[in-house]
Amino acid sequence: MKIPFNKPFLTGMETLYIEQAVLSGKISGNGDFTKKCQGFFEQRYGFKKCLLTTSCTDALEMAAILIDIKPGDEVIVPSFTFVSTANAFVLRGAKIVFADSCLDNPNLDPNQLEKLITRKTKAIVVVHYAGVACDMDPIMEIANQNSLFVIEDAAQAIDSFYKGKPLGGIGHLGTFSFHETKNIISGEGGMLAVNDDRFLGRAEIIWEKGTNRSSFFRGEVKKYSWVDIGSSFLPSEVIAAFLFAQLENLDTIQEVRKRIWNTYLGSFSELQDKMTFALPVIPDFATNNAHMFYLVCSDKAQRDGLITTLKEKSILSVFHYLSLHKSPFFAEKHDGRVLKNSNRFADCIVRLPFFYSLSAEEQTEVIEISKNYFIS
Ligand SMILES: *Cc1c(COP(=O)(O)O)cnc(C)c1O
Repeated sequence: MKIPFNKPFLTGMETLYIEQAVLSGKISGNGDFTKKCQGFFEQRYGFKKCLLTTSCTDALEMAAILIDIKPGDEVIVPSFTFVSTANAFVLRGAKIVFADSCLDNPNLDPNQLEKLITRKTKAIVVVHYAGVACDMDPIMEIANQNSLFVIEDAAQAIDSFYKGKPLGGIGHLGTFSFHETKNIISGEGGMLAVNDDRFLGRAEIIWEKGTNRSSFFRGEVKKYSWVDIGSSFLPSEVIAAFLFAQLENLDTIQEVRKRIWNTYLGSFSELQDKMTFALPVIPDFATNNAHMFYLVCSDKAQRDGLITTLKEKSILSVFHYLSLHKSPFFAEKHDGRVLKNSNRFADCIVRLPFFYSLSAEEQTEVIEISKNYFIS
């Protein structure tokens, strides 16, 4: 492909910091670079405690253990999301109750939440699609009224806000991804943000294979022991070193991505009344962190036609997600409700090439070909 969909951005400091980590002689997890990365998030966003993980998937699995999901517990999850948002809870025996998206954007529709809650419901998982906030006030209110936990899958939502509050810091727990397709990357990588005091101690234990090794390193206990369930969720210092180089450049990365995003929006807005597709919606309560640029086509045929047209010019655009309630794994388990907005976004969304080093010329080409496709 002449213009790929994604190209990982390197700041130039990654290999230097990795070398430092390697030469320091401490390359397993929870060393200096891990502490620097966690401290970065705790200071900049005020998250109570952050723990680096090897993926957002891992952070979601930690969340499921922390809120003590047991077989039969129900967890409400949007159908329009990545597999891990649901799978992490399925691993602990939860029954997933899929929720539909809003009419005008793929985020979970808070108006449909209450009727999904039963005596068995334990948690609501929200996904801030494209880094744009879900309407958290009504969601937190419904959760509090029903004593439910809220987990924010903020995989795409680094440096994005809801009414001034950082995403990932509003629910009881928040999870982030540093996969190479996200704004800030470490190849594979993730983080759990712990916002509720009740989880502070246990989160560290689950993170360290069910041991109190973190307390031991702080000199709080004489020996470390097996005290709970857990797994090997922490990344090595090599990954943390890579991540720290990225975090130091967060502001520059965000500035460039927002410029690219605004160019896309401005150019497509020019089609005005000829517009047979919809532009992404950013509600007043939300910021845009320029995670991705997508269009919502009028139907699947229009969407697939655009992807083909771009591909003929060697430009890669992609679509996602397929509604999870209709997936081969889940279709038989689903209760039969039609989730029409989720299905429509699965059929109609197209994501255009979006990465730091996308040049003005390349972007103009993507825009011109797409615009011509829509008006011809
Ligand atoms: C990327 C993504 C994930 C998975 O992140 P990994 O770090 O690859 O595990 C989960 N949820 C959403 C919404 C994502 O976009």
